[in-house]
Amino acid sequence: MIAPFIHENRPGRVVFGPGRRRELAAEVAHLGLTRVIVLTTPEQADLGREMVALLGEAAAGHFNGAVMHVPVEVAKRSVELTRELDADGCLAAGGGSTIGLAKAIALETGLPIVAVPTTYAGSEMTPLYGLTDSGEKHTSRDWKVLPRTVIYDPELTLTLPTSMTTNSGLNAIAHAAEGLYAEDASPILKLMAEEGIRALAEALPLLQTTPDDIGHRSDAQYGAWLCGSVLGQVKMGLHHKTCHVLGGSFNLPHAETHAVTLPHALAYNAVAVPEAMTALSRALGSVSPIEALEDLCSRLGAPRSLSSLGMPESGLDRAADLICAVPYPNPRPFLRAEVRAMLQSAFDGHPAAT
Ligand code: NAD
Repeated sequence: MIAPFIHENRPGRVVFGPGRRRELAAEVAHLGLTRVIVLTTPEQADLGREMVALLGEAAAGHFNGAVMHVPVEVAKRSVELTRELDADGCLAAGGGSTIGLAKAIALETGLPIVAVPTTYAGSEMTPLYGLTDSGEKHTSRDWKVLPRTVIYDPELTLTLPTSMTTNSGLNAIAHAAEGLYAEDASPILKLMAEEGIRALAEALPLLQTTPDDIGHRSDAQYGAWLCGSVLGQVKMGLHHKTCHVLGGSFNLPHAETHAVTLPHALAYNAVAVPEAMTALSRALGSVSPIEALEDLCSRLGAPRSLSSLGMPESGLDRAADLICAVPYPNPRPFLRAEVRAMLQSAFDGHPAAT
């Protein structure tokens, strides 16, 4: 029997395909925008110049100062520039950091965002935003920061280094995996989660050997779209809580921590969510989905233990306390002793125990 659910369709237009960035001017006009500020990181300034050229008369200016985690000073400067330019929209071309800056501008000004993503992080499909003040990142959600139009052009991911391809791809898989059992996931979102995992799990190993294959790049970005959509619409559970604690309190690297933790968190929840495990089996083409996930991470060269990421073993007790202090919604309760055992297993790099 289908379980009761609520599903809400959010406005948002997705334009997908190799070369489709060239339709940018038409897409901006479709939104009625005539003066758009282009945002990029310094490393992607050339991409910003290409966007300005594609926009033609609809380009109001280019700010190439986006940096990781959206420091408030950078957000303030870009809001001022947006107002000086009298812009009526923001175009974010890049990864989660650049899209995050556009969200900070939208939050302050209410201007619509057009996103041209170049990684698999998925921020373009979420109402989540973060701002960093004096070294502390605060995150929240507001539907007004959700981009109105997203142009996925896989050609722009051809330059993505292999390590970023793997890390942001596995990160996207983690969002969808928890979406499979999220209490607020509708049947449609579960289908999107399963298909997103399938597409990325197939494409990522192929991209290890043929990173400039536009077909594999398209499949990976298609998966990233689906996984990002899931992240934007459901609440995350034990896996994300664990990663937030390990990243926030022990300074472990974000994407790598996801790769190590995911099989362990899924193993913790497996007994409570047989349907989600069946969907994960279908997505990974294996009757042992957690082993298949571990195998995928190994084939991609992802780290396999928290110890290799610099986690101190003496911190595992505190991490378990912090995880259990304010639990996220999860199919199984956060049991302190079991969470501690899960952390030990992830620390040692043992296979995840169901
Ligand atoms: P990023 O945007 O920080 O980019 C990292 C570097 O890679 C930058 O120098 C960027 O210019 C460069 N880069 C991006 N695409 C490239 C490409 N195709 N070729 C060559 N270089 C490229 O990386 P990210 O992983 O996309 O984003 C990480 C940030 O996004 C984090 O701050 C994370 O918290 C945030 N995030 C937010 C959400 C959300 O829903 N709000 C979701 C996922 C991630």
